[in-house]
Amino acid sequence: MSRRRLLRGLSLAGVAAAAGSLGLVSYRDEVQAATVGPTSGEEHQWCRVVDLRACKGERKCVSACQERHGLSPEQTWMRTLSWQDEAGEHFMPVMCQMCQDPPCLRVCPVSATIKTDQGVVLVDQDLCIGSRACMAACPYEARYFNWSEPKPAHRMPAPSPNTPEFPANQVGTVGKCVLCADRIPYSKQLPSCVEACPRGAHYIGDLVTDVAVNGRSTVRLSTFLRDGNAVRFKEELGTNPRCYYIPGYGQPVGGPLVGVR
Ligand code: SF4
Repeated sequence: MSRRRLLRGLSLAGVAAAAGSLGLVSYRDEVQAATVGPTSGEEHQWCRVVDLRACKGERKCVSACQERHGLSPEQTWMRTLSWQDEAGEHFMPVMCQMCQDPPCLRVCPVSATIKTDQGVVLVDQDLCIGSRACMAACPYEARYFNWSEPKPAHRMPAPSPNTPEFPANQVGTVGKCVLCADRIPYSKQLPSCVEACPRGAHYIGDLVTDVAVNGRSTVRLSTFLRDGNAVRFKEELGTNPRCYYIPGYGQPVGGPLVGVR
């Protein structure tokens, strides 16, 4: 799947806008300037990479996420876009893009959405009043409303000194992917989606140390992004997402969207 074809596929899916404005991320300096800023003194700045060349739509990432966080089928922290063309079916996992400039954060009337010092966007479910303004503001449709009491789930430990512990899911609040923020600061375990992918398509990356891992291999993040012609989803909106997609190569992608699962 070429970058152009990926973008065409996304556009047809109604989820990408003008291809020309989707920036190609080529060098570490550019990545850091765009996502970290020159004043960050943090030890880590987390990001995601999804290598679409490896994704075959098995949805092991989705089921692992649902299981670990005690989510019911309608509580989707991750979903898979798919589209069909003459070469077959193509897949793209979509979740919270951990925007550096998140519109969801700006619209919250009670400041329940927070961004940690290491770049993870979270919802403090003890503060959330369920206004759902964030759901409307998110251009990635990454959030949902908890209409019913979720299954008992773990609480999120404070991912930084400035953020309190809070539940990851609670009735009457808005939920979304938390990037397994209770795992990554301690470097003990990978996010469940990363851990579960049998093909190594999901990576957790650190913009400071310039490293990304998928549980099988460790890569230099900037080189991986540059060599893979990585793109960011709806970059033209100025959300500055910290999720990078590496398009596949060689497959003629571009048919109509089949569905979202
Ligand atoms: Fe907020 Fe949506 Fe961006 Fe996640 S993807 S940080 S929910 S605007």
